[in-house]
Amino acid sequence: ELKLAARIQRIKPSPSTAAADRARQLREEGRDIVNLTVGEPDFDTPQSIKEAACAAIMAGETKYTAVPGTVPLRKAIAARMKLFTGVDYGLDQITVSNGGKQVIFNTLMATVGKGDDVLIPAPFWVSYPDMVLACGGNPIIIPCVEEDGFKLTAEALEAAITPNTRWLILNSPSNPTGAVYTAEDLKTVTDVLMRHPQVWLLTDDIYDEIVFTDARIASPVSVEPGLIDRTFLINGVSKTYAMTGWRIGYGVGPAPLVKAINTLQSQMASCASSVSQAAAVAALTGDQKEVGEWLKVYRKRCELAVELLNTAPGLSCRSSDGAFYVYPNCAGVIGKKTPDGQVIKDDGDFVLYLLESEGVAVIAGTAYGLSPYFRISVATSEDVIRDGCERIIKACSALS
Ligand code: PLP
Repeated sequence: ELKLAARIQRIKPSPSTAAADRARQLREEGRDIVNLTVGEPDFDTPQSIKEAACAAIMAGETKYTAVPGTVPLRKAIAARMKLFTGVDYGLDQITVSNGGKQVIFNTLMATVGKGDDVLIPAPFWVSYPDMVLACGGNPIIIPCVEEDGFKLTAEALEAAITPNTRWLILNSPSNPTGAVYTAEDLKTVTDVLMRHPQVWLLTDDIYDEIVFTDARIASPVSVEPGLIDRTFLINGVSKTYAMTGWRIGYGVGPAPLVKAINTLQSQMASCASSVSQAAAVAALTGDQKEVGEWLKVYRKRCELAVELLNTAPGLSCRSSDGAFYVYPNCAGVIGKKTPDGQVIKDDGDFVLYLLESEGVAVIAGTAYGLSPYFRISVATSEDVIRDGCERIIKACSALS
């Protein structure tokens, strides 16, 4: 009999992957499904990036690279960091892994163990709590309500910090809410952290090029340079350049932390793919034309989804400031009855009802730690968004 380790028994498969799998399965069974669960750009990787990868293959860049990533890639990352944060990071402060996901996992693996708390504002990206659990730590969820724009307040943060707190994880723009922390928002957070030197800050900036407001995204290290020595900035090329399958992410911050992560990575993965690293150099240093074009498209799609969903009886939907998600409130449908007499008790029931009655796949707010809500991805065409939202409106109108 297979005996599983305790760390595996503590975690579950990613709910977003599970929801996408379910939608795919129903479609294969012949159902007409509108899939609004997908967390990756629907665009193809730009041609120039693909060509750089082909050229790398032909030039023989097909071997192991240095554990923390190639020098050209780390130089390109350093230049981008300088642009976004104003901080000069050295190559020994940068590490590259197989996606932002692995950078976060490596970071927690290198720093979190039994008895350590990691603060996670909710709604959160589904993987943070399970990653902390896999490392043996305690995810401490801090609810961030819609009235505060789903953002962390100084009071809530202060109340959650204990001597065991190792990290605060901030994700802006947020998956799933699209909330963006302005420089002022960040300052309220960093002011609290300045009083608690045991707490490090992990920022997941993977959507930082997808911001709809006029202000360029702020970074905590420019807002509060006093935190540079305990802030780790996570990023990657997956979302910005439509490169989810290439698996390149990076982390930038204190050299001792990077060194520990590299030791771990040397035993676990050796390095990220050499070909993908060459492609990532082309992405970061090349023409950024598509990035700007896609931004406009995402913004228009978010506006369309918000406008349509706000006409659905029982739903209300804030506008999204970034990323490619909207997070409608479905409090108004809880307690109502479906046409076949089922009571909608929570957002999980609602999401199931949407799938069964109208064939729309979305993800329930429970997965993100704040209910009653659900997440819609707009990383799909306007036609699909319109079709999906119209089906949701129809499903809501059929409730009594
Ligand atoms: N962080 C957030 C908030 C995400 O939404 C995702 C992807 O869904 C990731 C990190 C991981 O991205 P990747 O591992 O593709 O770089």
